[in-house]
Amino acid sequence: MSTPLLVRHPTPHRTESLLGYVLRLSENNGYPSPWSVYRLAGMRQNEMRTTGIRVESLAKIAGCPVSQLDGIAFAQSANHQRCSRLLGHRLVPTDLNVTKPKLCPQCVSEKGFIEAHWHLEIMVACPIHQCLALSTCPKCGKRLSWFRPGLLECKCGGNLQDGELPSISLSEASLLDAIRRTVLALPVPAENLASLPQDQLMKMSLHSLLAVVHTLGKHRMIANRSTSWNDKRRAVEKASHVLMNWPQHFIELFVDIGQRLPVTTAGGVRKQFASIYHALFKSEAIRPREDADFLKVAFLDFAMNHWGRGFVDRKLVKVLGTNVAKRYLTQTEFATQIGVEQSTVARLLRSQKPLRGE
Ligand SMILES: [Zn+2]
Ligand SMILES: [Zn+2]
Repeated sequence: MSTPLLVRHPTPHRTESLLGYVLRLSENNGYPSPWSVYRLAGMRQNEMRTTGIRVESLAKIAGCPVSQLDGIAFAQSANHQRCSRLLGHRLVPTDLNVTKPKLCPQCVSEKGFIEAHWHLEIMVACPIHQCLALSTCPKCGKRLSWFRPGLLECKCGGNLQDGELPSISLSEASLLDAIRRTVLALPVPAENLASLPQDQLMKMSLHSLLAVVHTLGKHRMIANRSTSWNDKRRAVEKASHVLMNWPQHFIELFVDIGQRLPVTTAGGVRKQFASIYHALFKSEAIRPREDADFLKVAFLDFAMNHWGRGFVDRKLVKVLGTNVAKRYLTQTEFATQIGVEQSTVARLLRSQKPLRGE
């Protein structure tokens, strides 16, 4: 028996959410919910709630090549659910959200489909319309479900475009814009109104970028004595503040962390700031290591020019590779010692004041 095809089968977009695509298929064919599409594809109920959706069965009923759906799938295969991915970017499973939908109704209305970046836990708001994401129905107030009649229609019949969404700050929108563009492989924006290190952020792999955002958000909250570390909205708010006016707020973060250290804390800068230092420069989450070069340069700027307590110790010199005994470092020396390409250092330092040993 041959597998039945759906009557209407629009092709998936390169940047589309896989679950959003199934919902679009379902809506196009007039079904009340994507259950019908999954049933037609012969898929089990529990399969749709995981990242291991078998795209082969879906491709058959949607009449599209498996490779096209594979490009927007969440796992390499149903047997490799631990290696989560999003549009080909490798991710830790906790960064991915496939069960609790959120979206920007205006974006969905304008584009006609749901973009894949909404599957990231960190995407709490829309960088294009600068508003919080919608995760509950404006009519019934219930949490949105993937099993609803349409892209912009709730199970209760409510229109997801009804109602205003709270706005977000420029720095939050700029950081989320960099994340969205990284996910969708879009170019670096021409403007940089929040003065983020956006070229460097967008050069990072997605998993490094997310790790940097988590680390900076968390340590900004620790420095503020806040405990809501798991609140994604707060993490975005704080991380975007740290990255804004680069590298001024980043240096301020280290100054603030430093002020909380007991006066008796002796030793080198690396030891004093061990927690954030390890998270940014030693963690397996930020790979390749070159992804963190621009953070290293800013950290050295802090250590040499803004921190009067404690010394830039030999280990730090060795690890970060710079010779602070020299009062002035040429770019070439600095590049050799820090272990990055000279062109990288030149680019990184262009907007910063010269690095000087105190
Ligand atoms: Zn939007
Ligand atoms: Zn509703």
